[in-house]
Amino acid sequence: MDTMIRVYIFFATFVLFFVLEQLFARRVYGLDKKRLISNLSLVFAFYILSIFFKSFIPYTFALKHQGQMPFWASLIIFDFCIYLQHVISHKVSFFWRFHSVHHSDLHIDTTTALRFHPLELLASTFYKVGLISIFGLSADAVFVGEILLSSGALFNHANLYLPEWLDRFIRFFIVTPDMHRIHHSSENSEMNSNYGFFLSLWDRVFRTYGQRTFRDQEKIEIGLKQWRVKEKLYFFHLLLWPFKRP
Ligand SMILES: [Zn+2]
Repeated sequence: MDTMIRVYIFFATFVLFFVLEQLFARRVYGLDKKRLISNLSLVFAFYILSIFFKSFIPYTFALKHQGQMPFWASLIIFDFCIYLQHVISHKVSFFWRFHSVHHSDLHIDTTTALRFHPLELLASTFYKVGLISIFGLSADAVFVGEILLSSGALFNHANLYLPEWLDRFIRFFIVTPDMHRIHHSSENSEMNSNYGFFLSLWDRVFRTYGQRTFRDQEKIEIGLKQWRVKEKLYFFHLLLWPFKRP
C-alpha cells in the first residue's frame, strides 16, 4: 500500500463532497473565492512542510515500527485518541491558539475540513506517531484509520443536506454534517460539544453530545464571536493568527 493512495483517496473524496454540497446545499452562503483559496492554501502549506518530515508520516512510521495491536482495537484506540486530542485543543489555551484557525471560518463546508494551521497539522502528525509508539498500532489500522478520519472530516464538514431520517440513521454510527455543524457554532456551549471526528460514540459516552432540531440548523451562527470581519480571515492572517490572537 502506497502512502500516495491516501492522497488520491483524499482528493477524490474532497471533489465528491465539494460537488455534492453544490447540488444539495444545507445552508445558503455566497461564494467567497478568497476564503476558498485560503482554506486550500493552508492544507497545501502543510503538504510542503510535511516533505521535511517524511519519516514521521504515520503510516511510514507504523510500517517500520510493526506494532502488534490487533486491527480493530487499533482503529478504535486511534479514533478515541483523535477525539481526546480535539478536546485538548479546545481546553488548553496554547493549543486553542492554533485550533481556533479552524473555528474562525464564517461558513462551514467541505473546504473547512482543510482549514487547519500547518503547525497544528504537524503537531497532529507527531501525536499520531506517539500513539503508534505507545500502543503499537498496526500499520494496516493506521492506513485505514487515516483514510476514515480524513474522509469523515470531509463528509461531516460538508454543507450537505441530508434528510432528517438519514441523518439520524448515519449519526447513530458516525458524525454527520448536522452533528458537526453544532461544533462550529459561535456559542461557547455548542462549540464545546460534538468533538468526534469519525465515530459518534465518544460524544455520547463522555457526555459532550449536543444537538439542535432539524430546522434550527439554519439559525446556527458559524465562526467565532469576536472575529467576524472576513477580510481579516484570509490565508496570511491565518498563518500569523496563533502568534497574534489570545
Ligand atoms: Zn474544534
